[in-house]
Amino acid sequence: MHQIPIPAGMETAFFVLGKQVLPELPELLECAFPGKTFCLIADENTWRAAGHQAAGHLEKAGIPMIRPVIFPAEPGLHPDYAISQQMAADFNDTVIPVAVGSGVLNDLVKCAAGMAGIPYACVATAASVDGYTAYGGAMSVDGKKITVPCPAPYALLADTDVLAAAPPAMLASGYADLMAKIPGGADWLLAAELGIDPVNEPIWNMVQQDLRTWLADPTDLNHIFTGLAATGFAMQLYRDSRPASGAEHLLSHVWEMEGLAVDGQSVSHGFKVGIGSVAVVQLMDFLIRTPVETARRMAQPLPTRTEREDQIRNLLKKGCYGSGIPETAMAKFQDGDAALARQQAIFDKWPVLQQKLRRQLFPEDEMISLLRRAGAPVEYTAIGLDREQYLHGIRTAQLIRRRYTILDLLYESGLLEPAIQTLR
Ligand SMILES: [Zn+2]
Repeated sequence: MHQIPIPAGMETAFFVLGKQVLPELPELLECAFPGKTFCLIADENTWRAAGHQAAGHLEKAGIPMIRPVIFPAEPGLHPDYAISQQMAADFNDTVIPVAVGSGVLNDLVKCAAGMAGIPYACVATAASVDGYTAYGGAMSVDGKKITVPCPAPYALLADTDVLAAAPPAMLASGYADLMAKIPGGADWLLAAELGIDPVNEPIWNMVQQDLRTWLADPTDLNHIFTGLAATGFAMQLYRDSRPASGAEHLLSHVWEMEGLAVDGQSVSHGFKVGIGSVAVVQLMDFLIRTPVETARRMAQPLPTRTEREDQIRNLLKKGCYGSGIPETAMAKFQDGDAALARQQAIFDKWPVLQQKLRRQLFPEDEMISLLRRAGAPVEYTAIGLDREQYLHGIRTAQLIRRRYTILDLLYESGLLEPAIQTLR
């Protein structure tokens, strides 16, 4: 089998990746789940892409299977918690579910298997997300997007010929999600330098050490899938998405909650994150380019508690962001001496922060040209945003999570608005 070595301590024990490795599925399942019966779960598209062939290989090898579950292609599946609940009710511990699909389908099965307390396997059909190997699934529970805790697949197989046949936009989306690890990593460095969130060296290396190699060729599926999987493994070990996501993901969450769509089709996670990455790199570039004396001069007065509460109310007035956000935003708000001390700490560290960012980031042009080559959008208008919604997203993204990013750093130094004014 074309097994890829997996770091110790993972929920995922088997990872097969390579060209034409789908015929290795029977061997993989027998090794990973001896004596079990299997149930393939796909939708009509992924069944055509790999499910049908997978079933043929299993049948030929005499692997016991029950009737596959095949969801209709239209309307597209949603990561609806209720679907997972229904699936879980049908599972039992003699049958191992095998998700044949990408983001949503894998998350639905992952979540269902987690509820039923059984392991599962996944046959990837697109290099579109880093969530295959991550702990937890991005689900919508009563209309609200949350990450439901559930174990990653015990066995994963990705045949690069299958991945190559996926719609090109899915690969572009996965590539953009991998690119996001560049600014995402930069956010972690900033948080670490300010003593807020220390970098975990081994986890950092899992994602960042080879990242530029994985990103070098936007058509190299082996590298891109390896990078996405490695990121998922890092999240599995860290039990948090910090190794994989920073402010660019917060931006994508805001646009997601606003129901961003182009021609009635919702915009993929990777495309939102790609545009988020472009915005974040421009904000970081503001920090890199601005000498500390200038930064001090430009800094706006920090708001009082009441002013901040008003700002937050104003930013959330669309009302689509769920509950709890004002509390999250106010929990990290500081005023008075504490706010001034943080601002001072940021300016004291400014030259070090500039240096860290310079080393971590691609120059903006290079990042944009790689995203373009991958087929990912690089202008916010291409994902259905006008300038107002784009800038509003940047101000709002800072409110929605505790995770410390460039948005917090700029906000706390009184420079978020001046930096936003420089965005192209
Ligand atoms: Zn992502």
